[in-house]
Amino acid sequence: MRTKIIATIGPASSDKEVLTRLVESGVQIFRLNFSHGGAGDFEALIKLIRDLEREYDLPLTILQDLPGPKFRIGEIAGGSVHVTKGQKLLLGKPVSSADDLCPSYKSAVHGNEVERPFIPFEHQRILENIEAGDFLALADGALQLKVISMVGPMLFEIEALNSGIITSRKGLALPGKPVKLAALTELDRKNLLDGLNLGVDAVALSYVQTPEDVREAKQFIRDQGYEIPVIAKLERRNAVDNLSAILEEADIIMVARGDLGVECPLEELPAMQKRIIRACNQASKPVIVATQMLLSMVNSPVPTRAEVTDVANAVLDGADCVMLSEETAMGNYPVETVEYMHKITSSAEQLLWERGQIADPPVDSAVPDFLAYSACLLAQKSRAAALVAHSTSGATARLLSVRQPSQPIFALTPHRQVLHDLNFSWGVKPCLIEDDRRTHLERVESFIEDYPPFTCGDVFVITAGQPKSGQGSVKTNLVKIYKK
Ligand code: PGA
Ligand code: MN
Repeated sequence: MRTKIIATIGPASSDKEVLTRLVESGVQIFRLNFSHGGAGDFEALIKLIRDLEREYDLPLTILQDLPGPKFRIGEIAGGSVHVTKGQKLLLGKPVSSADDLCPSYKSAVHGNEVERPFIPFEHQRILENIEAGDFLALADGALQLKVISMVGPMLFEIEALNSGIITSRKGLALPGKPVKLAALTELDRKNLLDGLNLGVDAVALSYVQTPEDVREAKQFIRDQGYEIPVIAKLERRNAVDNLSAILEEADIIMVARGDLGVECPLEELPAMQKRIIRACNQASKPVIVATQMLLSMVNSPVPTRAEVTDVANAVLDGADCVMLSEETAMGNYPVETVEYMHKITSSAEQLLWERGQIADPPVDSAVPDFLAYSACLLAQKSRAAALVAHSTSGATARLLSVRQPSQPIFALTPHRQVLHDLNFSWGVKPCLIEDDRRTHLERVESFIEDYPPFTCGDVFVITAGQPKSGQGSVKTNLVKIYKK
């Protein structure tokens, strides 16, 4: 298993039995969705995952996903309203008196006596930015609307472009319209602080638009005395436009296809996914493909042909991780879904290697890229059983991972945080080693000798930092063939 599976935990998967089965089916990253709860709701779950981590002696990574500035409509009178295509509605803040309504609207409504259904929406910054002609999407794009005109100080007449039901508190999006709102909200800061104190290993930021959004979160984390990777969720068009700058700040990228598919025309999504993955691979940053990967398995024990193909294509595109949301959080078949995902990714990985060639780094790459490339070539030519890297910071393991060798990459690090970070990297098996007085090379060699699954007579390719005498530790500068 090289491609990593992220499972979102919810009511369908919070008890010890299901969690255990998820671990046994290959899940090593658990996503806690803070759109549906606060730290108090996840405390027991975090403890359970930590217990399993000890029990199975496997690094399990806990990913906290923050909701970010998702804006929602308010309470609809009566709970819901049926709208038909072409129907006109009002959205915004109610006017205090009819005198505040614009005269042309007043006379139009007066003329036909029709009361427009009212959708309360209070978000001042968004209301200030809405203009006639804007498109609105409610409930992840299930209902599309168009703004006709402003009819009161913060009130708009809108038209439904399709029929549907609007229920209270649904999310509202303005596809493609950049509205500058910081990705880290006040509530996110509180949740993040609680999460850090509970020991989450990574955090995902929703609705990132700029590199500053990521910088701000990283600074906040450092200010609290922690160091965990930040995942930038790409769910806005301008985030995709700013990808190269965001990649410099973020540790990991998520192709968040749910919201991205609302913001951008759906037909553009496949090409976007491929471009984003390629950029992440080139920057040696892990990339996650998320949302609706095996959605039909919420209610069915088998996926659709299209879903199976989608998961396989994400692997072939070069994704490090594939993510499950509703499927494992609230579906009827959480374990079966993970098992299926595992089967699909493993099968797609076979195709990767059938294609044979290890991709060479671009000519202007840095020396460490070429060192990792050479190690992968050597592993292929010597039919090695594994690559074993001493990777104090995780950087060398990442460079090996992006070349996608057919051998597993054992990454040895003395740091617990790096151990958890490396779970996001394709093909990497992170292992904790003691930070003793031996050289990195000695540590790796004794790991190979002592690790029971490694058989005598097998060949291994080692990468390590070998200092000159008197020198302290150095960055990776050595590739070695080792026979057990
Ligand atoms: P969400 O993010 O599930 O938190 O909305 C993922 C996405 O938008 O695809
Ligand atoms: Mn989203």
